[in-house]
Amino acid sequence: MKTIALIVAAGKGVRLGSEIPKQYLPLAEKMILTRTLAAFLNHPQVDAVKVVIRACDKDLYATAAADFVDHPKLLSPVHGGERRQGSVRFGLESLAENTPHSVLIHDGARPFITENEIRAVIDALKNDPAVTLAVPITDTLKRVNAENVITENIDRSAVYAVQTPQGFHFSDILKAHQDFIKEDVTDDNALAEKLGLKIRIINGLKSNFKVTHQEDIARGEAYLMQNKNDIRTGMGFDVHAFTTGDSLWLCGVEIPHTQALKGHSDADVALHALTDAILGTIAAGDIGLHFPPSDPQWKGAPSSLFLEKALSLLAEKGGVLNHVDLTIICEAPKLTPHRDMMQAKLATLLGLSLDRVNVKATTTEKLGFTGRSEGIAAQAIATVALS
Ligand code: MG
Repeated sequence: MKTIALIVAAGKGVRLGSEIPKQYLPLAEKMILTRTLAAFLNHPQVDAVKVVIRACDKDLYATAAADFVDHPKLLSPVHGGERRQGSVRFGLESLAENTPHSVLIHDGARPFITENEIRAVIDALKNDPAVTLAVPITDTLKRVNAENVITENIDRSAVYAVQTPQGFHFSDILKAHQDFIKEDVTDDNALAEKLGLKIRIINGLKSNFKVTHQEDIARGEAYLMQNKNDIRTGMGFDVHAFTTGDSLWLCGVEIPHTQALKGHSDADVALHALTDAILGTIAAGDIGLHFPPSDPQWKGAPSSLFLEKALSLLAEKGGVLNHVDLTIICEAPKLTPHRDMMQAKLATLLGLSLDRVNVKATTTEKLGFTGRSEGIAAQAIATVALS
């Protein structure tokens, strides 16, 4: 095996003042560690991923790794020690049987590591025995004495803040951890230095910060919002025939009419088209896949249930709904008097402001099945943003 990522997630997270260790805290509805795992598991140059955890966190880890249960690159976790240094050593020793050439050691609480940064570290290991991501310091640095009085200006041009991943040839870093077991250091570079290895700095991004303090959660969520630039659109189309009755449902609003719409659920053709449009944005099939018409539990069901399901699937993917546009096609009933109410109801169901929800109605000039007043058709387009 060539390259293994060793994710260190055995910390107690006491600095965040939380009961739950920070790597298991949610960040925009996904655990921090889940995001970190995804970055390495999805990387084409990483052959396997191993996580070091506290034994008592095994249930939290199972939740964090639930998305990757059958992922061929994810090795079973190993239990860490009391301190980070011991945890890394246990992790490295457990990798000996995999005989990797290189290992990338990464903090579980740095979820925003990018594909390019991982690639830069792996590529640099072809020429250098040890590399680390780091960022230049932009603030002016001062040394202070015990009374908090400045005693010295520090030249920042040659000073870097070190991040992870730190990359090493496996045999070197395993030896460094075993040879210097009694030394007390805060990162793996320090041990590699003791072994006499030259460690090269690779310029990283400030976004690869470690979630340490409470404000880092808000910073992380802001970063994710900024980076929601995977914009997608989905479309939906649906038709329901008229049947006997005295009202019908459109956009979750009951509209009096001389006929009803026929369907297994409440036959809200507009919400069905919209549900399919949202499912379309995340390649999640169609409404019939999630709510088979053969299933009796959906008989007479309000179609808002279907819409809620599509929205929750979108949220699970970290997506945000941005805008919907809907066209309802029929000769009757006349929809103009109901338009505002339908728009308002949709905005509520979707959690959007009114200027992001459009409802239109048209006829087909008495042509085709809608022109003959045999039923109602609806078309919808949804736009979402994912990161
Ligand atoms: Mg339908």
